[in-house]
Amino acid sequence: MNARERYEEFYRNAMDNKEAFWREQAQLIDWETPVSQVLDYSNPPFAYWYPGATLNLCYNTLDRHLEQRGDQNALIWVSTEVNKTVAFTYRQLYEWVNQAAAVFRQMGVQKGDRILIYMPMIPQAVVAMLACVRIGAIHSVVFGGFAAHALASRIDDATPKLIVTADAGIRGGKIVPYKPLLDASFKQITIPKPNVLIVHRDLVPQSPLGVGEWDWDQEIALNARAHIPPVAVDSRHPSYILYTSGTTGTPKGVQRDTGGHAVAMRASMKHIYDLRPGEVMFTGSDIGWVVGHSYIVYAPLLTGATTILYEGLPIRPDPGIWWSLVEKFKVTIMFTSPTAIRLLKKNGPEWIQDHDLSSLRYLFLAGEPLDRETHRWISSTINGQVIDNYWQTETGWPILTNHAGLGLMATKFGSPAVPAYGFDCHLVDERTGKPVKDNEKGSLMIKPPLPPGCMTTVWGNDQRFLDTYFSRFETLMYATFDYAMRDEEGYYFIMGRDDDVINVAGHRLGTREIEEILCTHPQVSEAAAVGVTDAVKGQEIVAFVVVSRDGAPPEGKELKDLISREIGAIARPKEIYRVAGLPKTRSGKLLRRSIQAMAEGRDPGDLPTIDDVAVLDHIKKAIEATHD
Ligand code: AMP
Repeated sequence: MNARERYEEFYRNAMDNKEAFWREQAQLIDWETPVSQVLDYSNPPFAYWYPGATLNLCYNTLDRHLEQRGDQNALIWVSTEVNKTVAFTYRQLYEWVNQAAAVFRQMGVQKGDRILIYMPMIPQAVVAMLACVRIGAIHSVVFGGFAAHALASRIDDATPKLIVTADAGIRGGKIVPYKPLLDASFKQITIPKPNVLIVHRDLVPQSPLGVGEWDWDQEIALNARAHIPPVAVDSRHPSYILYTSGTTGTPKGVQRDTGGHAVAMRASMKHIYDLRPGEVMFTGSDIGWVVGHSYIVYAPLLTGATTILYEGLPIRPDPGIWWSLVEKFKVTIMFTSPTAIRLLKKNGPEWIQDHDLSSLRYLFLAGEPLDRETHRWISSTINGQVIDNYWQTETGWPILTNHAGLGLMATKFGSPAVPAYGFDCHLVDERTGKPVKDNEKGSLMIKPPLPPGCMTTVWGNDQRFLDTYFSRFETLMYATFDYAMRDEEGYYFIMGRDDDVINVAGHRLGTREIEEILCTHPQVSEAAAVGVTDAVKGQEIVAFVVVSRDGAPPEGKELKDLISREIGAIARPKEIYRVAGLPKTRSGKLLRRSIQAMAEGRDPGDLPTIDDVAVLDHIKKAIEATHD
């Protein structure tokens, strides 16, 4: 059997014998109450995997490896920001997690309570996540690059009992505030201020603790000998919430279960990523994103592997840094984003090729489109297999991928290959919902039930889950919000989002969130944010604002600073144009695509429904004036 045939057989088996397939995968995990039924799908599209079975996620990542791997490294923290490398064995990580779990308990956190984690890339962040699931609490990690408003909306929605943070982080040698941003968010929240546990780093002087604030090191020290038994929870008990952006201004809390999540993570290591117990995985991402949750923390630790947690930039102190880690720690599987590779490409292949990369079996790239040129360049530079995989916060693991664990099929540059086992992918016409032909663009839909590991609902809002993802057509289908095309050999090509989501360097941002913040400025009456193509980051944000006549008009910098302060520097627009009006249909709908076309220097196209053609001319002039 060749790789293609092996894949076909594996995929068909997963789809045709769903129960038996996922029953077998469940054996990769230790259960407290064993699996009897595999799937309860009595309330479509809500899938309840492994009903009645119980388990603990932390037990599966740590306790069960202790006997065989107690002295093996579980986590290696490398910080090129503070020049430190610290390794923690499974036993050391286990001890630390127990201490943190005891602290959380003391602070009143119980099963089902939420803990919000707003941290830089330090080991305490991983310890906090694992301690949280140890006691059956639910974590919500907020990316450290988010600022006050973004943080406040997540605090309000998750209503955490406790927030774990650090006083400061550091990026590119510059100190970045964490606790001060959290304090700023407290001014905007509508719930009572939760308790705060603060990791002090020697980057800034230690501030005195306020009311309801606690020091991580002190509390851990008080619990040095604590052992907290893992709490077995029902398979569908939420393990975590991770917020992500969509069309509306309010981010959605993607809720993940425990049983399906554990099985999906462990199985993906086996069949897709081909990471074996005892090996080393390096995922260059951030724990605040889904790639970090899945492939820095859960999947490698569930597998009994060693994971590298990296704090710093991929090009500092020099563009060879990541590859020196591959050499030093004998990394077998590496995972990062296309943007990181494009950044390295600018610096030349020698930085990579100067290192012994013989341990590296595969480099996986995801989070945004991987252009053919970059795919080709990195494949020849590392002289190895580079695997594009396509997925989303919502799914938690690949929808489309080449399966390294089954043996690789031929690579087609520009394509993340074929559907992963469990995903019933369909390409349909966006208006009629009818299937499109080979080589025709369609909306990528997934026929439910979604496989284990995918979101089970929107936190606290089942209706929003249905309305957002399953309401496009009469038949129940999950919308990915991506366009795609499939060739005659069954390979898929992703062709961009069909909604208002912008993807900057693999970071997913909603245009509405940015526009709403711009409109909080007293002089801004209307705003539109769009993504424009960027050679390195994939997309960049540009915004258009209509300012009211009274008062001094705001400077571009002032508005950019407003975005950095409220959402975070990742959402800072590259350019802000002042315009007389925004193009809209007669019914008042923003013609976002025509604005985007003009921002990219393209023709806005024929717009028969436009309300006022003159605004287009004005927008064009505003763009030209800036670039003259
Ligand atoms: P996120 O939820 O932040 O992971 O963003 C998911 C979105 O990123 C997807 O819906 C796609 O638009 C895009 N994306 C992720 N991986 C890929 C990929 N390999 N190729 C093309 N687009 C991707």
